[in-house]
Amino acid sequence: MKTHAYLLDIKEICREKHLTVDEIFEKLKKTYPKVGRSTVYRNVDEMTKLGVLTKIIWIKDKALYELIGENHIHLIDTESGYIRDLGIDNINIPGIPYNFTVDYMNVDIYGKFN
Ligand SMILES: [Zn+2]
Repeated sequence: MKTHAYLLDIKEICREKHLTVDEIFEKLKKTYPKVGRSTVYRNVDEMTKLGVLTKIIWIKDKALYELIGENHIHLIDTESGYIRDLGIDNINIPGIPYNFTVDYMNVDIYGKFN
């Protein structure tokens, strides 16, 4: 069972942001030619459960993954799949009416770029 064998490598790969598991698999294969696709799926799933990666529901039933850390919102074009990060400094977030400290955000907004 190699569930954690590639954790650090996958973490490094995901610094590029917004990758499908297949893209992560292709990149990991360059270093580990024998790595199996299901192993990569298992690792990514585990890392998502551990809160290392976040899953973005993309288009056409596909998901993208990125490292949790930098707070931003995703603007996702539902036709082209183009995805753009919007830093929270660039928008006005409505005041949070509770005594609540944000650890991280996971906000995906779907629409169309004109
Ligand atoms: Zn992002």
